[in-house]
Amino acid sequence: MQLTIHKTVSNHQIFRMMIQQYKAASILFFVLFATSLLTAQTNENETYIKAGKLFDSENSRILSEMVIKVQANKIVETGKNISIPDGATVIDLSDYTVLPGLIDGHTHLMSLETLTDNHPMAGKLLFEGEALRVLRGAKRAKSWLDNGFTTIRDLGDSGPFLDVALKRAINEGTTVGPRMFVSGPIISSEGGQVAGLLKSKRDVIDSEYTLVRNVDDAINAVREHVTYGADIIKICANNTPNNTSLTIEEMRAIVKMAHRYNKKVTAHATNDLAIWEAVTAGVDAIEHAYQVSDTTLNLMAQKGVAMIPTDISKPLFHKYLELVDFEGDKNQAQQGYQARMQDRLQRAIKAKVTILTGSDNYINFEMPQGEAAKNILKAYEEEGMKPLQILQSSTFLSAKFMDMEDQIGIIKKGAFADIIAVEGNLEEDFSASIFNIKFVMKNGEIYVNN
Ligand SMILES: [Zn+2]
Repeated sequence: MQLTIHKTVSNHQIFRMMIQQYKAASILFFVLFATSLLTAQTNENETYIKAGKLFDSENSRILSEMVIKVQANKIVETGKNISIPDGATVIDLSDYTVLPGLIDGHTHLMSLETLTDNHPMAGKLLFEGEALRVLRGAKRAKSWLDNGFTTIRDLGDSGPFLDVALKRAINEGTTVGPRMFVSGPIISSEGGQVAGLLKSKRDVIDSEYTLVRNVDDAINAVREHVTYGADIIKICANNTPNNTSLTIEEMRAIVKMAHRYNKKVTAHATNDLAIWEAVTAGVDAIEHAYQVSDTTLNLMAQKGVAMIPTDISKPLFHKYLELVDFEGDKNQAQQGYQARMQDRLQRAIKAKVTILTGSDNYINFEMPQGEAAKNILKAYEEEGMKPLQILQSSTFLSAKFMDMEDQIGIIKKGAFADIIAVEGNLEEDFSASIFNIKFVMKNGEIYVNN
C-alpha cells in the first residue's frame, strides 16, 4: 500500500518533471523559432522603392532620385543615399513620380444615384436594402484605391452605420479598399436631405439620418455616433435641397460633445448664412461652401476652419448635362457654373482658408466611381489651383486635418506605406499625369503595379 502510494507519488513527480522539461523545451523551441522567423521576416518584408521623382507633401516640392525603404506596413527610411543590399526586393519607379496615397475627404460609398431615375434617393432607401448596399459599396471602395486614393472620409448617406461595417471589412482584409474614416449617419434637422417625402414616410429619414430636434438630442446624437464607431461627426448645417437647418445652439452642443471625444465636426453648408452659423458654432470644416461671403471666409480663416470644395470638373459637368438631356447651351452652362465656383475658391485661397480635397461623388457618371471622384483634382486645376497646391491639399493638408500628418499623406520615416506613382509630368500636364496611375501600395501591400 505504502509502496503504491510511494510509487504513485513518484510517478506524479516524474510526470511533473517531464511536463516542466517539456514546457522549458517548448519555450526554448518557440523562442528559437520566433527569432528565426523574425530574422527571416525582417528581410522578406523589406522593400526598396526607387522614385525618379518624389512629391514632398509637407514642403510641397518635387525631389528627385529618392529611395524609400518599406518594412512590413511602414516607411522606415527615405533618402537619396540609401544603400540597397544585394538580393533585396526592389520596386523600380525611376520613370515615374511617386507620391503619398491621395486622400478623398468627402465620399459616399454607399450611395450612387442614376440621374434618369425620378426619385433616386427614394429608390436607394426603399428598394436597395442593407446587404446589397454594402456589397455595392465594397466594389466602389476598390475603385478609389485603383485610382490612387489610399484614404477616404466617408460622410454619410450610408444607412445605419453601414460605413462602419465596410471599414471593418476592409481593415480585417475581408474586402479591398482604402483606409476609411467614417461619420455614420449625417446629423441633421427634420427631413434630412430627402426632398418631397411624405410626412407619413418619415421613418425612412430616421433610418438614414440622425435627426435632432433640440440641444439635448444634439448632445445624445454625438454620444450615439461615438458609441457606434464614427471617426468624424458630419452635420447638415442646412439640409439642401430641403429648406431647414440646425440652430447655432444645436451645432454648438454637437461641436462641444464631439471635441470632448476628440472627434472633428464637418458641416454640409451651401449658403452664406448656414456657413456663418456653422463656423460661429465652432465646426472644424465646411463642405461645399457654394455661396460664401468674404466676411464669412475671413471668419473661417481666423478660426482655422477648412473648406472642402466639392466641385465638378468640366468633362463631368458636360457628362452630367448629357445624362439629364439638357437642352440649353452646354458650354454656357458649364462656364457659368465654373465661374461661380472658381470665384469663391479663389476668394477662399486669398482669405487664407485651408483647402482640403473632397469629391462628393455620388452620381452615376457611367465610369468607376473612384475614377469620377478623381475629377475633383481636375476641377481644382480648372479653377486655378497649381498642381503642387492641389496635391498638398489632397495629401498633407487632408492628413493634418485628421491630426494624422505623421502617418498618412506623407512619405517619411514612421508613416504608413501608402505610396502611389504616376507617369508623366505632374507640374506641366497635371490632369493627364494624375490619371495615369502606375502603382498603388496601401499599408505595405501592392494593389496596382502596371
Ligand atoms: Zn456629400
